[in-house]
Amino acid sequence: MSAQTETYQFQAETRRLLDLVVHSLYTKKEIFLRELISNASDALDRLRFEALQRPELVDGSRLEIRIEADPASRTLTVSDNGIGMTREEVIANIGTIAKSGTRELRETLKEGTSAEALDRLIGQFGVGFYSAFMVADRVSLVTRRAGEPDATRWESSGDGQFTLSSDDKPTCGTSITLHLRPVEPDSGLEDYTDKWVLARIIKRHSDFVSYPIVYRDQREESAAEGEAEGPAGEGPKTVVVEDRILNSMQPIWTRPPAEVKQEEYAEFYQNYFHEMEAPLKVIAARAEGLLEYQALLFVPAGAPYDLFYQAFEPDLRLYAKGVLIMERCAELLPRYLRFLKGLVDSADLPLNISRQMLQQERQLTLIQKWLTKKALDSLQNMREQEPEQYLKFWGQFGRALKEGFSSDFENRERLTPLLLLASSNDPQRLTSLKEYVERMKEDQTEIFYLTGESRAVIENSPHLEAFREKGYEVLYLSDPVDELLVQYLTEFEGRKLKSVVKGTVRLGSEEEQERTEKELQAEAEESAALLQGLQKQLDEHVKDVRLTNRLTNSPVCLVGSELDYSPQMERLLQFGPGGRPRQRRIMELNPKHPIYLRLRDSYKQSKDDELLKQYAELLLGYGLLSEGTPLHDPVAFNRAVAELMERSLTAAG
Ligand code: ADP
Ligand code: MG
Repeated sequence: MSAQTETYQFQAETRRLLDLVVHSLYTKKEIFLRELISNASDALDRLRFEALQRPELVDGSRLEIRIEADPASRTLTVSDNGIGMTREEVIANIGTIAKSGTRELRETLKEGTSAEALDRLIGQFGVGFYSAFMVADRVSLVTRRAGEPDATRWESSGDGQFTLSSDDKPTCGTSITLHLRPVEPDSGLEDYTDKWVLARIIKRHSDFVSYPIVYRDQREESAAEGEAEGPAGEGPKTVVVEDRILNSMQPIWTRPPAEVKQEEYAEFYQNYFHEMEAPLKVIAARAEGLLEYQALLFVPAGAPYDLFYQAFEPDLRLYAKGVLIMERCAELLPRYLRFLKGLVDSADLPLNISRQMLQQERQLTLIQKWLTKKALDSLQNMREQEPEQYLKFWGQFGRALKEGFSSDFENRERLTPLLLLASSNDPQRLTSLKEYVERMKEDQTEIFYLTGESRAVIENSPHLEAFREKGYEVLYLSDPVDELLVQYLTEFEGRKLKSVVKGTVRLGSEEEQERTEKELQAEAEESAALLQGLQKQLDEHVKDVRLTNRLTNSPVCLVGSELDYSPQMERLLQFGPGGRPRQRRIMELNPKHPIYLRLRDSYKQSKDDELLKQYAELLLGYGLLSEGTPLHDPVAFNRAVAELMERSLTAAG
């Protein structure tokens, strides 16, 4: 046996975790078994997976998880004939807090967790292998990596250190023995050597595990049992040993969705994806016919922090006939649905298919198409049936979904009704396009929107003045991805989406429009000199200076032609210094504003181009700042402000 035993210290974080686990008051201590079984199941998955490339790793014996209890010595052993671990792997995986799924845990530990918080964590999440110390005061583990000759023994009492030694083990896999704590009143412990207790716990938490969980039942039976001869317990006895499988092994996704309880789905999801919270929605789908698939998707309760990072990898897994064949199979869904977690089980894929082959296979494309439709229909259903839940969903994942408009043309019709947008109609409520259209004014032919850096900037934008005054609803699009959205979503039910900062404003009836048109034209002739003068001064930045009916309170604003990018988009595409040349804008003046009226009259008389230059600078600056665009030339702007102040103060004094 062990030639040499070496002692190691746990990492500080791990020690703290262990300490908290050992002293945890968490009442559902039984989840330790779920954790150990889930690790065993992972180890079996990994072995099966590796054996696809290296068939010599398996010898044909059944992959299984075994539970053995010994009431006399108060030990419980959980074994698997899975992948096992090398000595180095034991140190890396068992000596430190594991990498997977434990990020939240590590964060919480750093901040100094209270006992209650940890209890909550354990309840929602489990603490993996270490949860064994909730019920055991000593844990020993013997493991042998598949394909390696030597085994390793790890032992710890959960007190800050562990020991390692070499060991012998006839087969690969891992065997974990718990030396159970005494069952005292109020300890929250049960007798985990009792087969009924074990059977109940396994049924509750691990029923869907796809490997048999085998319990070795040993009982004494008197040879004469059944015959009414003498009192029971007398006569010769035989020991009956019987293997019983405690789980039904049916993967949850193969069961008819109507028969699966929401709690069962939640339990599966939290286990399988190491999630803290129950999912917002479960999507179970099945395709039968030429090709057969089953899929189980989950909408998580919240968006991960890295959802919008390039490196984000969706958690989608591919099974073939119940066997995991690919762990990260992003191709199952289009990129914009990357927030969904789940799996697809196909009856038609060969088990030993490689990633390259899979990418070439048409199958994957077909699955993606099918799954996308299922997912979008399900979201639509959620929108209709569970509006509150949908709102939560939208808050977390709406931004990602909007990306679909620029990439998934095929599902445009499915995506559009899922959109929720802010609007001037009700600042507290998001609206769908359908609802917007229902509220449209009789003479309104277009859907108006304004993009901007934030809601506040949009709301204060001068471009909205006429719309607000006349009571036209405007969509407020303040999400950066909205710029992209309106590039692709150009109409809805035959109505064009129209930016209020592009082109001219046509509001009211035909007659009204005509009248306004005439008035503006007449006024423009009146002030032709001023408009040309301003144009000359601002030629670098402005391609036209004109009068508008867009404004009521502000003197000036800047707009674009229909095909121009919005200032917001311009910033995204990095126009300006170092990037592309800026687009020239259109300056619009409010012909009813006193600034305009005075300027028109004074310029007519004085023809003072020096003075006009200052005013032009101010008007341009005003327009830029009011829409949230930085000034082109802050120094020139300030100089103009200073000179004009001086001038007006001199005139006043
Ligand atoms: P997690 O399962 O979230 O990774 P655990 O604390 O449950 O965290 O397990 C830590 C790591 O120890 C696992 O990731 C795995 O590498 C290793 N491990 C635990 N149990 C086994 C086992 N039965 N067979 C092989 N490796 C195991
Ligand atoms: Mg685990």
